[in-house]
Amino acid sequence: KYNGPSYENLKNIRKDNLNPALLTFYSKPLALHQGYKQWLFDIEGKRYLDLFGGICTVSVGHCHPRITKAVNEQMSTLGHVSNIYYHPKIHEYAKRLTEKMPGELKVAYFVNSGSEANDLAILMSRVYTGNHEIVSFRNCYHGMTYQTMALTSQGSYKYKLPTLPGFHHVMNPDIFRGLWGGSKCRDSPVQVSRNCDCGEVCNAKEKYLDQFRELFKYTLPKKSVAAFFAESIQGVGGALQFPKGYIKEAYDIVKESGGLFVSDEVQTGFGRTGDHFWGFEGHEIIPDIVTMAKGIGNGYPLAAVVTTPAIAEALSRANHFNTFGGNPVASAVGITVLDIIEEEELQQNCKNVGNYLLKELEKMRDEFEVIGDVRGKGLMIGIELVEDGKRPLSSEKFLKIWEYCKDAGLLIGKGGADGNVIRLKPPMCITKEDARFGLEVMRLAFKSLN
Ligand code: PMP
Repeated sequence: KYNGPSYENLKNIRKDNLNPALLTFYSKPLALHQGYKQWLFDIEGKRYLDLFGGICTVSVGHCHPRITKAVNEQMSTLGHVSNIYYHPKIHEYAKRLTEKMPGELKVAYFVNSGSEANDLAILMSRVYTGNHEIVSFRNCYHGMTYQTMALTSQGSYKYKLPTLPGFHHVMNPDIFRGLWGGSKCRDSPVQVSRNCDCGEVCNAKEKYLDQFRELFKYTLPKKSVAAFFAESIQGVGGALQFPKGYIKEAYDIVKESGGLFVSDEVQTGFGRTGDHFWGFEGHEIIPDIVTMAKGIGNGYPLAAVVTTPAIAEALSRANHFNTFGGNPVASAVGITVLDIIEEEELQQNCKNVGNYLLKELEKMRDEFEVIGDVRGKGLMIGIELVEDGKRPLSSEKFLKIWEYCKDAGLLIGKGGADGNVIRLKPPMCITKEDARFGLEVMRLAFKSLN
């Protein structure tokens, strides 16, 4: 039973004492109080199916009893200790996490957020290569520190301040809305990347790769690249998938230019894409550096960077330290998340329920003109809403759908450069039954637009 401040009180505190840039979107913002697995409960006890999972953050489910137990046990044994000492949990976790990695990716650094992880990856790549230039996609999101804000390429997350030198953004290989996207680019959205077979209309992959090469030819000095950062599927950017084969070729271009490939697995890691534990495995590459956050800790502040011994060696030219990164409680959580994913077969569940959702959404796209594109993989799904053919659905109409779903007990996400993409990234334990409920509510919401 909830006995905290009243709704009015919460509203006033939010207005007077909390970061005013925090968005809520709903006309009557939700005040959430409790969670259990895929369910959330507001302060009045109303239940919601959570298909957004705190933007991909809740991987194994809200308040998973095993995580609660692990936190309690570790907190009452040793809550925090400086990492100048050995503490068994961080050691055990480093071993467990790096065992999930292919190739030479065997050294872990623990931090507290995705932004910090990407910040560290920028530093690492520059120190190791001796180069300065960093490349990422337009429409990407990699964090909110001053440096990762420069890496991020979304105008709505930037201020009118000088951008740090050394950051470059290549054209986003978007095969739906991009320059070389066509309405025919619609093969089955169950791969990490997508095939664009429409030939005449676009040949999107080659055209976007030409643009990628042009950056290296015209803008960057020879062999000056420290790193190229990419998500396996863009998250905040609207569950956007790249054309099949693009990432592999981009990887080769970057390597030839002396740079490293950094895979941002903050949203796509930990089995979410179904077929693989890491999204990059679907692109058939092994990155030099992998950054991860969100699902790694099921909502607990924990993030990591994993790299090769050679790159790690370069970073030992100076002290590198992080007070809370990998503290005993965070490490206990990290280990338990890995155990649960394995024992509850959550990666397989992402694949099964994700494929079911994608197939049903494909059918719905033929039924509703408002659905322009359905994409994603596993439980990382985007539904791009449009009007008059391909124009992004107005924010007013989008929010009507959102609000309708909330009132019916369904929480969904919002994203994409035009804010017109429904993002589904539920806790990885949702069932087909939940998926059916979600689909039914969305169907009614789409109908309500008429
Ligand atoms: N990378 C990606 C792909 C993300 O989606 C986010 C957060 N939305 C970040 C990095 C930054 O993570 P954090 O908010 O934990 O700093």
